[in-house]
Amino acid sequence: MKLDTLCVQAGYEPKNGEPRVLPIAQSTTFVYETADALGKLFDLEADGFFYTRLANPTVDAVEKKIAALEGGVGAMMTSAGQAASLISVTNIAKAGDHVIASAAIYGGTFNLFNKTLRDLGIDFDFVSPTISADDLNVLFKPNTKAVFIETVTNPSLDVVDIEMFAKVAHAHKVPLIVDNTFATPINCRPFEWGADIVVHSTSKYMDGHAVALGGVIVDSGNFDWTQGDYPMLTTPDESYHGVTYTEAFGKAAYIVKCRAHLMRDLGSQASPQNAFLLNIGLETLHLRMPRHCSNAQAAAEFLEKHPKVEWVNYPGLPSNKYYEIAKKYMPNGTCGVISVGIKGGKEGAARFMEGLKIAKIVTHVADARTCVLHPASTTHRQLTDQQLLDAGIAPNMIRLSVGIEDPEDIIADLAGALEQV
Ligand SMILES: *Cc1c(COP(=O)(O)O)cnc(C)c1O
Repeated sequence: MKLDTLCVQAGYEPKNGEPRVLPIAQSTTFVYETADALGKLFDLEADGFFYTRLANPTVDAVEKKIAALEGGVGAMMTSAGQAASLISVTNIAKAGDHVIASAAIYGGTFNLFNKTLRDLGIDFDFVSPTISADDLNVLFKPNTKAVFIETVTNPSLDVVDIEMFAKVAHAHKVPLIVDNTFATPINCRPFEWGADIVVHSTSKYMDGHAVALGGVIVDSGNFDWTQGDYPMLTTPDESYHGVTYTEAFGKAAYIVKCRAHLMRDLGSQASPQNAFLLNIGLETLHLRMPRHCSNAQAAAEFLEKHPKVEWVNYPGLPSNKYYEIAKKYMPNGTCGVISVGIKGGKEGAARFMEGLKIAKIVTHVADARTCVLHPASTTHRQLTDQQLLDAGIAPNMIRLSVGIEDPEDIIADLAGALEQV
């Protein structure tokens, strides 16, 4: 089946007399007739549900859909994108290990790595998203366990050379993890370019309506853990009846361990209700993404020509430094998010934002409704102008998340607000 069909159909296959629409299995637990049948589930010897922290029929169906969309062997949903990033790394790295990450990643991921995981003893090197293969190559150490990048970054809109990162990582027998939140599998499938693990915040385009937080980890099944140094996967896990994940689960070793080990211990599972809502969003992902991209392209072209605009950052503009690489990895468009610098500094940006009527000021991005955020007066308001520049955030920068309304209305809204500047 093609991607568009998978969005609608994958994951849930009702049998005779069962509901056509994926039902919400709002139950923490599941019934078995014998203790032995339940025991086999605990031993991971049989498939089935016993406790919603580990697996639930509604969540399972949505995991299967996302695995199909990314082309992976399995997926695990989490309560939020943050939990997906956390588990994707700690599933293979522990205290004393080292991870290389792009510096251009979502701010929440940066804090998770640079603060929380550092405090837990994992060492990080952060690299430029445009680092050369040679410069990347020399950063690997004997204890390097993963490389982590983001396809199109939130909010700086850097586009990374996935193939290059994958090749260098693989030369060191290390997997590449890619946060594919902004591109979604509709615009980019990182496994086709050599990535091994994909993570998402499903709270963004996948849900698409800003109704449910969620995250997901997808395993390509392509990385050979037995070739690298991954004793957590290749030697017996005493906390799980001595199972050796690579021997018992082959290509699905990584994703089974995410669930059997870390979801068991951390309990950051997706709720059945949220999985149900996410599934409805996924059913139209293939229709919404092209519209987000064409609307954003039209808005970016309009803004770039406007005399009250200082600069526009959108990979779909020929003037953008990532134009060529974005064409290679995302020929159908990147995402609906644009960043734009309004003339008149912080005040100019604030006046522009307050002049908007359709686009609302919110902390969210990547849903059906056009929205804006001015980092300098909201998420980063405690910083001085100099500190903002050091953090890579221009005081006049607005993050504009273009929705799926009529493009003429969006542009009229932007034009009206620019008159207020
Ligand atoms: C929002 C976001 C996250 C974090 O996801 P939550 O669902 O908010 O926890 C991670 N990565 C990217 C790229 C994001 O945009």
